[in-house]
Amino acid sequence: MKTIVFATGNKDKVVEIREILGDLDVDLKTMKEVGFTEEIEENGTTFRENAAIKAEAVAAYLRKSVPEYADAIVMADDSGLEIDAMGKMPGVMSHRWLGDRTYPQAMQDIIEELKDVPEEKRSARFVCSIAACVPGRETLTVQETIEGRVAHEMRGTEGFGYDPFFYVPEYGCTTAEMSREQKNAISHRGKGIRAMRDLLIAEGVLG
Ligand code: IMP
Repeated sequence: MKTIVFATGNKDKVVEIREILGDLDVDLKTMKEVGFTEEIEENGTTFRENAAIKAEAVAAYLRKSVPEYADAIVMADDSGLEIDAMGKMPGVMSHRWLGDRTYPQAMQDIIEELKDVPEEKRSARFVCSIAACVPGRETLTVQETIEGRVAHEMRGTEGFGYDPFFYVPEYGCTTAEMSREQKNAISHRGKGIRAMRDLLIAEGVLG
C-alpha cells in the first residue's frame, strides 16, 4: 500500500481528500501524523510555486529524517481568490491580505470597492494548485479553477473564507450556500485533487 502524506493542518481538506482518494489502495496521513511541525514560508509568487514549496519541504524532511515514510508520496495544495476588477488580487495573498480584518470585514471592503463595477466586470475565480513529490521524479503539479462573480452582498453560512460573496451563476447561489458535497463536486480544490489523482494513475504511481 502506498502512503500519501498531505501537507496541511486543515481537517476539512483531509476529509475531502480522503473521500476523493478513498477507492485507491492508499494510506493517507497528515503532516502532523508523520511528525512534521515546522512552519513553511510560502514565498512563491504563484499557486503552483507555493504548492511545490510546501510539498518539497515536507518530502525533504521525510526522505532525510523519517525512514518509515521516506518513500511516501507527499502532496500539498495552495489556493486563493482572483478578482479581475482588482488586477487578480488578492491571489496568492488571499489569507495574508486580511491583515487584522475578519473575512466578513474584508469581503465588505471589497463589496464597497466594487460597488460601481457592473455585473460583467465582477468576474472572479478560486484557484487551486496541487503539487505531488514522488521519490525519484520531478515535482508534479496541476491547477484547477471555479469561475464566479463577486456578489453585491454576502449570503450563506457553509464553507469558509471568501465563500459568502463568491456567486456561481450556473447554480444561482454563492459557494457558502452549497452543501459540502455540492461544492466539492465543482470546486477548484475538488477538481484539483481529482486531477492529481488521475495524473498519478496515468503516471503509473497509483493504481
Ligand atoms: P490555503 O490554500 O489554505 O493557503 O488558502 C488560501 C486562502 O484562500 C484561504 O485562507 C481563503 O482565504 C482563500 N480560499 C481558498 N479556497 C477557498 C474556498 O474554497 N472558499 C473560500 N476561500 C478560499
